[in-house]
Amino acid sequence: MPLLVMKFGGTSVADLARIENAAQKVQREVERGYDVIVIVSAMAGKTNELVGWVNQTSPFYDAREYDAVVSAGENVTAGLMALRLQEMGVPARSWQGWQVPIQTTSQHSSARFVDIPRANIDAKFAEGMKVAVVAGFQGVSPENRITTLGRGGSDTTAVAFAAAFGAERCDIYTDVDGVYTTDPRITTRARKLEKISFEEMLELASLGAKVLQTRSVELAMRYKVRLRVLSSFEDTDETSGTLVCDEEEIMESKVVSGVAYSRDEAKVTLITVEDRPGIAAAIFGPLAEAGVNVDMIVQNISEKDYEDHPGAVTDMTFSCPVDQVERARRAVEAARDAGTIVYDDLVVDTDVAKVSVVGIGMRSHAGVASRMFKALADENINIKVIGTSEIKISVLVDRKYLELAVQTLHDAFELEKAG
Ligand code: ADP
Ligand code: ASP
Ligand code: MG
Repeated sequence: MPLLVMKFGGTSVADLARIENAAQKVQREVERGYDVIVIVSAMAGKTNELVGWVNQTSPFYDAREYDAVVSAGENVTAGLMALRLQEMGVPARSWQGWQVPIQTTSQHSSARFVDIPRANIDAKFAEGMKVAVVAGFQGVSPENRITTLGRGGSDTTAVAFAAAFGAERCDIYTDVDGVYTTDPRITTRARKLEKISFEEMLELASLGAKVLQTRSVELAMRYKVRLRVLSSFEDTDETSGTLVCDEEEIMESKVVSGVAYSRDEAKVTLITVEDRPGIAAAIFGPLAEAGVNVDMIVQNISEKDYEDHPGAVTDMTFSCPVDQVERARRAVEAARDAGTIVYDDLVVDTDVAKVSVVGIGMRSHAGVASRMFKALADENINIKVIGTSEIKISVLVDRKYLELAVQTLHDAFELEKAG
């Protein structure tokens, strides 16, 4: 039997009526002759509620118990989806991660897949089951504890199942009808893309476009999964939505293909650090040990007066997610208290956001950076930090300019027009 993986995100299963709507989409594929693996998220808002409960109960929680709690939302949806399908006359069964068993590493709250054994689910398909409903976002560690895959992780569950079961396609049903040139909630001029390359989608996702979890795109790229994003609220067929595919399959040739943003960033600066070999390692080693995901790093000649610093000094700036900034501050201060680093001041700015332009065309085109900076300058948006890689340019700006910056860059690169 040909097999499809269909994943439904939180808003697509937000209540019983929406679960029924999703189940009808699944039933249609069964009627077309597919066996289906359905991956479900928790109902919209549930995971946030569970995370809130954990934080209220235990601010510095045991990550194993965090996973035990926050994985629960998906379990409810999986059971309800299986029941709804059964009511519709579709032979269906639900699986929680441990029942498959979905084996992961033991990095709680950001675990990675190790293996997805097919035997249990295949045996049920062989007995006539048409739909396996699997709880997304979760697995089980070698220590036999429940793990979760990081926020948005159900996308990754879907792609991993598509790879493990050799699915014809992995369809990600969500509350938008595809991948757009930027978040359609920020500008109505955002344009839906027919296709996007794995590389660009990977950058957009890792720079904040939450339509797909970054790891899901990595897996799809590695295992050549045909990955599609489409709407759960519209009638859809094989041509709907956006296909994430190899660069060679894409005709469009824009230098920049999308704008991504990440709202909750923080910028941390150590003022007047000694400029000597080993200083960066002395700062970023403890940050890594504290589990801080450092993103952009800038080292520059210190603005401060040199006179009271006989040796060379530098300012060191880095960015990280705003909810990790206290951990970052503690790690840096502990290093200072231990005497491994010396600085005058620690300046923390928690009101910044990151805006990025992405495009594989940047590999062969100059002038993208200057066009980006000019567009932001024309709107009087100050750039605080700049970071670049082969196919992206990112800037940190004050959070209050986030929407304006995204809209401005979308216009500056004429993304509303097909290339
Ligand atoms: P789900 O609950 O289905 O997993 P998410 O909320 O995780 O859905 O992802 C879908 C959301 O991603 C959309 O509602 C949209 O606001 C946001 N988004 C951000 N960037 C983009 C983009 N470039 N294209 C489409 N959606 C985007
Ligand atoms: N429910 C989880 C989350 O909100 C996983 C997911 O929906 O993909 O992050
Ligand atoms: Mg999601």
